[in-house]
Amino acid sequence: MKMQSQYVFGTVCSIDLFEGGTEELYALLFNRLNLIEKKFSVNLSDSEISYVNENASSGEVLVSREFFDVLKFSVEFAQKSGGAFNPALGSLINLWGIGTEHQRIPAENEIEEAKKHCDFNAITLREADEGCFVSFADDKLRVDLGGIVKGYAADELVKLLKERGVTKAVINLGGNIYAFGSKSDKPDEKWNIGIKNPLKVDAEPIVILEVNSTSVVTSGNYERFFMEDGVRYHHIIDGKTGYPAENDLASVTVVNESSIFCDAMATACFVAGTEAEFVRNKGGTGAVQLIFVTKNGKIVKK
Ligand code: AMP
Ligand code: MG
Repeated sequence: MKMQSQYVFGTVCSIDLFEGGTEELYALLFNRLNLIEKKFSVNLSDSEISYVNENASSGEVLVSREFFDVLKFSVEFAQKSGGAFNPALGSLINLWGIGTEHQRIPAENEIEEAKKHCDFNAITLREADEGCFVSFADDKLRVDLGGIVKGYAADELVKLLKERGVTKAVINLGGNIYAFGSKSDKPDEKWNIGIKNPLKVDAEPIVILEVNSTSVVTSGNYERFFMEDGVRYHHIIDGKTGYPAENDLASVTVVNESSIFCDAMATACFVAGTEAEFVRNKGGTGAVQLIFVTKNGKIVKK
């Protein structure tokens, strides 16, 4: 069955299983995506994340193992990236509302106020025999996992594919790609994964990667943004300034077999820029490829 697409995570998600694609398998994979969205979407009032955001400052809340693990990963990545990736930016993200109907440039004092409630160290995670618990030491702190949920979801789909004995697939969750398995038996015939030209998104890809069995994730200032007085206000927020991250980068692509790592790393690199310590040591993971595209179209590979 040919490639199937659905609108999930506020974006088009496509899965191509090639000759291995059956209706049943596609249904299983999209079900999994929908369940992940129901758990992690801050836009759904009955999601687990919304429940945690509403209640975790009044005392510990019991959460699912899955929610706990993803939040834990995000807090650890926040520590590792010096807060460039920060799961506690919910108040600021909501204030800007980029990509929503209420998007606007907030007043300086609103930004200063929201910034006070973005400390990821105020999140406490506790694992016990009775279950997993989360609490917030700040009643205005809100978690937002939009910066890693697609990566997490791609990894989960790959797990299902492996369980089912599927040998190849290409997953594209709104630009968060997993090229699973090998394209063919010939070792030099690999998947061609294009990186969008962030300066001209409808043009040809700016780089084409040849890869097998890996995830390729891009964060860019072209994904969700609005323009005002010639300034681009995009959806990746620098918690230190309270504004959309501003440096010489237009996009960052991360290549590694863990899609959740790629997703967190791409967002973090976009905020921190090329010279940050954790960017130079590639997030502590050796087998990582980074591709930066600057605002003047220069491509830097590391
Ligand atoms: P991505 O497209 O993976 O870079 O993720 C961007 C999304 O992650 C945004 O739409 C927000 O929901 C959230 N986000 C924005 N800024 C950050 C940040 N500095 N750290 C973590 N998540 C962020
Ligand atoms: Mg990301």
